[in-house]
Amino acid sequence: MTNKSMDKIMALAKRRGFVYQASEIYGGINGFWDYGPLGALLKKNLRDAWWRDVVQNPCRGALGPNGEPVRMLPLDTCIIQHPKVWEASGHIAGFNDPMVDCRETKARYRYDHLFVYVPESGDTQGKPVFCFMPDSPSEAKQKKKAEKAFGAIRSVPLSSIPKEEWPRVLAPEAEKPGSLTEPRAFNLMFKTYVGATASEDDVAYLRPETAQGIFVQFKNVLDTTRVKLPFGIAQTGKAFRNEVTPRNFTFRSREFEQMEIEFFCHPSEAADWYRFWRDARVEFWKRVGLAGENLVLREHDRDELAHYAREGAGTSDVEYRFPFTAPGFGELEGIAHRTSFDLAQHQKHARVNLEVFDAERGELLPNGARKGEKYLPHVIEPSAGLDRGVLALLCEAYTEDASRPSPELLRLHPELAPIKAAVFPLVNKDGMPEISERLHAELTRRFCRLGPIEHDVKQSIGKRYARMDEAGCPYCFTVDGETVTSQTVTVRDRDTGAQERIALDRVSDFLAERLGPG
Ligand code: ATP
Repeated sequence: MTNKSMDKIMALAKRRGFVYQASEIYGGINGFWDYGPLGALLKKNLRDAWWRDVVQNPCRGALGPNGEPVRMLPLDTCIIQHPKVWEASGHIAGFNDPMVDCRETKARYRYDHLFVYVPESGDTQGKPVFCFMPDSPSEAKQKKKAEKAFGAIRSVPLSSIPKEEWPRVLAPEAEKPGSLTEPRAFNLMFKTYVGATASEDDVAYLRPETAQGIFVQFKNVLDTTRVKLPFGIAQTGKAFRNEVTPRNFTFRSREFEQMEIEFFCHPSEAADWYRFWRDARVEFWKRVGLAGENLVLREHDRDELAHYAREGAGTSDVEYRFPFTAPGFGELEGIAHRTSFDLAQHQKHARVNLEVFDAERGELLPNGARKGEKYLPHVIEPSAGLDRGVLALLCEAYTEDASRPSPELLRLHPELAPIKAAVFPLVNKDGMPEISERLHAELTRRFCRLGPIEHDVKQSIGKRYARMDEAGCPYCFTVDGETVTSQTVTVRDRDTGAQERIALDRVSDFLAERLGPG
């Protein structure tokens, strides 16, 4: 895997209409990507697989740690919410400029406020350089260290130090160099105006995550359905982040889609639900085709955690080894125990009571009933990126095999493959196209809910197979001379290239056995 070339994967993605640069005819726009016909299908198939596993048949029928089926409800909330939502969530407060974090001390700095002491000569001899904030205690401390290391020194803005040299930058108050993160716009929200006047009173933001829409509708869902805790709410949708440096194809974009679950439970059950969801989510990614050593679950160290999550049961990431992160891994999905942080924030900012009353809890009364308990639920949040998921599927499926007539193919799971099957007449005459058209129509009627069935009469049969291999189409059926006499067709398996003959009237069931009933 590590030797897969991202350039080749991107070239195939473009050539076959999976992913295009947004606004390409105008030179593109950095951090935005469009999905072409095959990409739109692949993305929909992954979203649908998630939706089935999360909403329609939660965790494929597995029982939760409480021994009951997992209760999940869907939701579809707006991209633009009341601006106070983002005040409560902490997305607005104070974060107006690119910031860098120190991984060691957990301090956060304005990027443009940091300076570095470097040797007057410019030659650091491979030694660390000393970062400081003017007018803070770090200034004098770092100056002393820098003079000891280099003698004559001068200060330069951190922004003038090339990124490759950041591993040698000793952050203010830090013990070891290399702890500063890349600058990120913490007010990474896209601003817009609601209504015609466009005054500062009308400022609104495009959501940077879908999660907050769920938190602010939690009480409505509880009050308008018969659901009881523990239960989860799921939604998929666009999120927008004005990332400072969008990069690695669709991995870090400015517009992307999330698939998020907020699972609400009693605080005493949060640790069990955290473990349950963490494992269930890894299983999902394995099932859609990321099984193998490129997929890992990484439990965060406690000191990596967000402040509210430190009291929680944990946070972990499902990570995939992308060609551009190899030998390391990149995050596909984060699973976090968010405690009651978000509900508490909204309760405070909206001045609405978001507590639940659970009649089956609390002390046992003499009459055998329970007294009931009022509490703010804890939340387990599995938050996945759909675009990163699609990218991981493409990277995993991409295979080069020079021995084949089609040297590049996508080994996509049949459930995820954009085109489910293709039907070809070997040649476009001698009664073959009539049979292949009939077969195509029959398969389309039965399987169109799963995805398109292709019919292609042009070019040599080898080229048509190669096109389908690149599109990740798992099965090709070819009507040939023998079909007319023996009522059989060949079926070609994408992964092995092997062909077998099956009866024409068995084709539909053959596909159903492999794709599901249609
Ligand atoms: P990162 O550390 O990579 O910026 P994050 O921890 O900020 O990610 P979350 O806020 O946990 O990400 O968002 C949940 C998921 O949304 C991520 O696991 C990822 O799959 C996806 N995601 C986040 N930011 C982006 C982005 N800029 N482009 C594409 N997908 C993203």
